[in-house]
Amino acid sequence: AVPLLEVTDLKKHFPIRGGFFGGVTGHVFAVDGVSFTIGRSETLALVGESGCGKSTVGKAILKLFDITAGQVVLDGKRIDDLPAGTLRPMRRRVQVVFQDPFSSLNPRMRVRDILAEPIRNFGLAKNSADLEARVADLMDKVRLPRDAVGRWPHEFSGGQRQRIGIARALAAEPDLIICDEAVSALDVSVKAQIVNLLQDLQNELHLALLFISHDLAIVEHMTHRVAVMYLGKIVEVAPKRSLFAAPKHPYTEALLSAVPVPMPGAARERVILKGDVPSPINPPKGCRFHTRCPYAFDRCRVEEPPLVAVPTALAAGHLAACHLHDRPANDNPLAAAKGE
Ligand code: SF4
Ligand code: MG
Repeated sequence: AVPLLEVTDLKKHFPIRGGFFGGVTGHVFAVDGVSFTIGRSETLALVGESGCGKSTVGKAILKLFDITAGQVVLDGKRIDDLPAGTLRPMRRRVQVVFQDPFSSLNPRMRVRDILAEPIRNFGLAKNSADLEARVADLMDKVRLPRDAVGRWPHEFSGGQRQRIGIARALAAEPDLIICDEAVSALDVSVKAQIVNLLQDLQNELHLALLFISHDLAIVEHMTHRVAVMYLGKIVEVAPKRSLFAAPKHPYTEALLSAVPVPMPGAARERVILKGDVPSPINPPKGCRFHTRCPYAFDRCRVEEPPLVAVPTALAAGHLAACHLHDRPANDNPLAAAKGE
């Protein structure tokens, strides 16, 4: 089957201007060759530290800017090269929920109008009675009282505002919602409620979700697959259980080692990475992670590892970009540590 979304070798390089003549003096290699798919009704979590390029991937899919190279295909149709006047059908099908429910809702619009706007824009309502019914239904879907539609955004809590943001995304009847740190700004208990709501809505409406987050603990509760980004590249992608049980990239192993484990005794040994994330203006040669990797060897400094299926993985579709997996299992610390 054709995946709902197929991203192939996506690149977004932002030019840096400077110098006396204001010319281009370099590039920020924000996203540098990223490929993945999302199936219908599937959640893919895109994780990594801030600045790794994950939000840029989301914005590229939303076509908030032109990409530098690569392809974005929605439901078998290329969308990255659509001219400006022809974007509307694609804009309806891919919606977004941003991190900050305080700044993403217009404070001068009542909830009714916030929800009615996309319905009108995309011509979804047959008449004004249908419009009202759709707005009421959206309030039901996000578990807010119908009579709250007359209120203003500032009258709601952060969690309630994020429900309104989700309702606004749903108003367009999308196939895919990009959630960019959509629960990151919320309190722990509210976070869990919004995650549960997103999962319920996904089951109810057969939505696909691209869940962009730096928080692996949240991701573990809600995603089907996980893609891990480091410095503009995906270094590992796998079904959730396989990735959490036996990470195949040293960066993922380090990220997971910082996630609290509920059962005492089951805690992973904490891996502390040395140094900071290098600048995306001048990323390291070879494997981009080699300056911080506890297992780096000579080959890592010169040759870039491709993202390929890992032979020792627990599940099909477990890909990692790391030279360790070319070595025999008894000489591969990531395989040996898991007793494979
Ligand atoms: Fe570490 Fe080398 Fe693997 Fe990169 S390729 S993650 S430097 S072992
Ligand atoms: Mg971001």
